[in-house]
Amino acid sequence: MQEKVSDSLVGSLVDNRYRVNSKLARGGMSTVYLATDQRLDRDVALKVLHPHLVNDGNFLDRLAREARSAAKLSHPHVVGVLDQGHDGRTAYLVMEYIKGHTLRDVINERGALSPRLALALIDPVVEGLGAAHDAGLIHRDVKPENVLIAENGRIKIGDFGLARAVTTTTTTGTLIGTVAYLSPELVLGKPADARSDIYSTGIMLYEMLTGQQPFDGEVPIQVAYQHVNSTVAPPSGLVPGLAEEVDELVQWCTANDPDKRPVDGNALLSELRHIRTNLSDAELDLQPPAALHAATAAGAAGATGLHPARPGIAAPPAPVRLPSAAAPGSHTEVLSPVEGPGVQRPTEVISHTSNPTTMFPARQLPAKFGFDADADADETGSRSAAPAAYGDGGQSQRPLSKREQRKQDRVDERARSRAAATPLRTLREGNARRRGVLWIVILVIAALLATGAGWFFGMGPGSPGTVPAVANRTVAEAQQLLQGAGFQSSTQDVFDDDIRAGLVVGSDPEAGTEIRKYQQVSLFVSKGPQLFPLPQLPGKSLDAAKEALSGAEMALGKVTEKFDEEAPAGTVLAQSPAAGTQVRHGTPVSLTVSKGPQPIPVPDVRGEEQGAAFRAIEAAGLVAVVADETVNDRKVPKGAVVKQEPASGTLTRGATVTLTISAGPKLVKVPNYIGEQVADAREALEKRGFEVRVNNILGGFFGTVRDQDPVDVEVPEGSVVTLTVV
Ligand code: ADP
Ligand code: MG
Repeated sequence: MQEKVSDSLVGSLVDNRYRVNSKLARGGMSTVYLATDQRLDRDVALKVLHPHLVNDGNFLDRLAREARSAAKLSHPHVVGVLDQGHDGRTAYLVMEYIKGHTLRDVINERGALSPRLALALIDPVVEGLGAAHDAGLIHRDVKPENVLIAENGRIKIGDFGLARAVTTTTTTGTLIGTVAYLSPELVLGKPADARSDIYSTGIMLYEMLTGQQPFDGEVPIQVAYQHVNSTVAPPSGLVPGLAEEVDELVQWCTANDPDKRPVDGNALLSELRHIRTNLSDAELDLQPPAALHAATAAGAAGATGLHPARPGIAAPPAPVRLPSAAAPGSHTEVLSPVEGPGVQRPTEVISHTSNPTTMFPARQLPAKFGFDADADADETGSRSAAPAAYGDGGQSQRPLSKREQRKQDRVDERARSRAAATPLRTLREGNARRRGVLWIVILVIAALLATGAGWFFGMGPGSPGTVPAVANRTVAEAQQLLQGAGFQSSTQDVFDDDIRAGLVVGSDPEAGTEIRKYQQVSLFVSKGPQLFPLPQLPGKSLDAAKEALSGAEMALGKVTEKFDEEAPAGTVLAQSPAAGTQVRHGTPVSLTVSKGPQPIPVPDVRGEEQGAAFRAIEAAGLVAVVADETVNDRKVPKGAVVKQEPASGTLTRGATVTLTISAGPKLVKVPNYIGEQVADAREALEKRGFEVRVNNILGGFFGTVRDQDPVDVEVPEGSVVTLTVV
């Protein structure tokens, strides 16, 4: 039914941009389609989250993480992610479209590959991983399904859906990845690093060389158990004649102890290339036994067009049929989608191994135990990883063959450069009887382990159980619930903004997760919200205060502006709550911010008497100053203000206004014009600025000034002078 829903996408337009053309593959969490980007008119691969997972934050996170991880990386051997989005019920990721097939298809089609082809195919994968490791990312889901091989031979690693930054420690107790490729540390719920990817790569290389995975079992947990408790057998056990160096490489990568593996993709890459250049053509082109060819392609390997590559060149495999689904047993499948408040956790995914059990020949069992049984083997002495060396008593003193010498040199070099042990461990040579006893002991231990494992995983502490939901409960209630479900628990106090102090916030692993009962469940108990002191803001500029608030993860509250005579505009004057108050993150802090000094309109005091003018200016908060010079003015009386500077506009408190005071009108002497002709008298008087008034007596017939008032005295300029004319 879900299939139908997904398929309904074919033909539709996602987010108005991507036309879905056909389905390419369907995985555990998503379906990958071939689509056309309408905007850029190019083919893209569109990864769409299964509709029933769209509402699950963890899967959305996973998709977003894939986008982010890939965005950090741009590498020719890493599938490029172009876009990511959410269109209604469709959460999707857009990738460059790799037209071709996956490494899984190649293994399915061919079975075991020649060392030349296997090394050529794995080289770009390791290079891509090296780039991811350099960028601080671990892939965590290295497997053949996630290796894409383009028709043009380019090889890229994809599916960074589980990738994590190395620094984010994974929570214990959760299995992530695909069980066939899962490293022991991940099985044990320990934090993973680049070396976990190396382990998965080693398993993948083993599979490429032999056509089968090193560990097999009825149920995933059996495979997981072997990752922890067994050692990967040398692939030459299945491919006789395989170069020892290749055996060593697989075993070095798959060492149980991460410290004994190459430190990251780059370390592996240089060793890989070193080995490839040192192998002879015969060693590189060794044909695996026919029994290891894929059943379907046993007689038709040539027909697939997969040619062994020339040395140093990545194999350009011709297209093989792209199956509608990946091989059984290797999906990254979801057992329990997890969710819960506050706690960020990886999604629990585990693979089902459903393909028929492939057991290793019994002779490999002691070999594996032997590897571990003699961890103290002489580091400098002659040793060999090949099973043929076991029991080859008394030969440690024989001179080294040329090939052994070559290997010894490399071992020494490796030990020097990395101070990391190689996966070489031989059984200390002993006599036949001792070996017999050892065999019996080993078989007894194996039988005990098998019985013990059955009980352990069936009903004992290894049996699975589902973590109950405990959020919002009291600690006692939560502990009771966990005990009822068969789990031991411990508590850990955490701050929480929403859940009341004393109540449980969540658990690790989260509610709904299926885990083994021996795994402890941590309860997170709320201490209430975490409080932080508010920073001191007054005195800072508004911008600096905003920065300080966001730095302290507080919010900006109301901002009120206010005139302030001292603080320059834009300076914070006050804050509420006060600095030092303990509050939770996100608390809004209100600020009062200065608008600078208040502007004062300048009063107009022109014409006013000096005393009154001073009072008016001082009352406004300004300072009045009298100019040194007075001026004469005909209209403004003496002692009043003639002029002020400034006369309008605004000033700030304490600024000065300069007043010019009138000295009254200028005094001018009125000359005597009596006896003169009125016209001359008028002209002369008006020239001096007087106003002339004429009284004509008897019609002023003679036009002679008979009388003048005032006369011969000083009067204010502009005064009226009256002339009496006869
Ligand atoms: P999942 O997370 O579901 O495993 P993957 O990213 O591994 O998703 O994709 C699943 C399958 O889809 C791949 O094994 C491959 O067959 C196909 N596929 C994925 N990405 C591309 C791509 N960029 N181009 C072509 N096919 C792809
Ligand atoms: Mg995948």
